[in-house]
Amino acid sequence: MDNQQIPYKIYLEESEMPKAWYNVRADMINKPAPLLDARTRKPITLEALSQVFCEELAKQELDDTTAYIPIPQEILDFYKMYRPAPLVRAYCLEKKLETPAKIYYKFEGNNTSGSHKLNSAIAQAYYAKKQGLKGVTTETGAGQWGTALSMACAYLDLECQVYMVKVSYEQKPHRREVMRTYGATVTPSPSDTTAVGRQILQEFPGTTGSLGCAISEAVEAASTREGYRYVLGSVLNQVLLHQSIIGLETKAALDKYNIKPDIIIGCAGGGSNLGGLISPFVGQKLRGEADMRIIAVEPASCPSLTRGSYVYDYCDTGRVCPLQKMYTLGSGFIPSSSHAGGLRYHGMSSVVSQLYHDGLMEATSVEQTAVFSAAQLFAKVEGILPAPESSHAIRVAIDEAMKCKETGEEKTIVFGLTGTGYFDMVAYQRFNDGKMGDYIPTDEEIAASIAKTPVIDA
Ligand SMILES: *Cc1c(COP(=O)(O)O)cnc(C)c1O
Repeated sequence: MDNQQIPYKIYLEESEMPKAWYNVRADMINKPAPLLDARTRKPITLEALSQVFCEELAKQELDDTTAYIPIPQEILDFYKMYRPAPLVRAYCLEKKLETPAKIYYKFEGNNTSGSHKLNSAIAQAYYAKKQGLKGVTTETGAGQWGTALSMACAYLDLECQVYMVKVSYEQKPHRREVMRTYGATVTPSPSDTTAVGRQILQEFPGTTGSLGCAISEAVEAASTREGYRYVLGSVLNQVLLHQSIIGLETKAALDKYNIKPDIIIGCAGGGSNLGGLISPFVGQKLRGEADMRIIAVEPASCPSLTRGSYVYDYCDTGRVCPLQKMYTLGSGFIPSSSHAGGLRYHGMSSVVSQLYHDGLMEATSVEQTAVFSAAQLFAKVEGILPAPESSHAIRVAIDEAMKCKETGEEKTIVFGLTGTGYFDMVAYQRFNDGKMGDYIPTDEEIAASIAKTPVIDA
């Protein structure tokens, strides 16, 4: 099909929308290693996991066999507010780059949370409500997840307590106020409101916090409050499952015009948008139906896939969550404070880790000034001011398109544009002022942090 017939934006009709999430674990030959109970170091049981997560989500977390899980009608109705997300042909970017490559991006920023995180927030809030819970606690880094969860909780009339990484709390007062407008309570982390927060403050006075710390506080708060459960916006199997809506819509939109992707690119923090975007395509690869390159892009300052170890590690600094086998920099790893581009998590989804380990996908890391210059170019030609996180994928999409320019190949590149960057203007300011650095951790720093991962004889 020639370019003329492919619309600038591909939207699905309501009848073409996915009605079930796709669980790629069902098609994986090597399943992700089981979660281990932090105390017993044995594979965690549904019963134990149900103490932390609500029951239906605990089931989804442990389900390695069901390929399609129907999306409840209430969630489908909520999705209608901001889905389908468009698959956009980046004609202007292609023209600017003078590349023969065809570039598409799946835009997930069309909702107030400004990111894909709402896809899982509504699912997690829904199951909590269905179980009759009073409220949920969570952590948020840059603030997108906290905002998404606040929106979902407000819609379903659930209470929402957010522990926000202190540096973001201070740098992003507007994000904080969006959450409060939706009725959430927001506390900077580490805080003195939890035992683990007080302990972290004592050990690292003046710390600006990390996702790992905030997770520990949120878990503690949930376990000490009646009718509360903890929810997490990335990393977990259940989150990848909910985020498969991104990949399913993308695949349906491509199939509609008989477009075959050669390269699929996603940014990777905890791995949820990437995992969701690639799941249906990895499924095709696993079943031998299609082949394409898949590239995870991470920040050079927090390079879990490209420089981490594939071992069991704690998911949080306070070591209260189950242990997960994943590519990790060690749960104590805190990216340099000069790092402004998000994607700060020390580990990676166990599904993405296993796929990477099995050679089903590649990973690369990029430095933040290169990321922000890609963001700036994209904003100028495509009109959307991207989130710094998303801009990691933009960077590599541009790099791959430039390779096509050299070779003359007309490859089809699809990347995930996970969100908008309107709340990231402090980071953009640093870039615009020429004050942004490219700190890359040394091998010694990474080795010292990884040396603190638990020794598991499994
Ligand atoms: C949270 C976030 C990410 C990274 O999280 P993943 O779980 O790796 O997807 C990427 N982009 C945006 C806009 C985000 O808010």
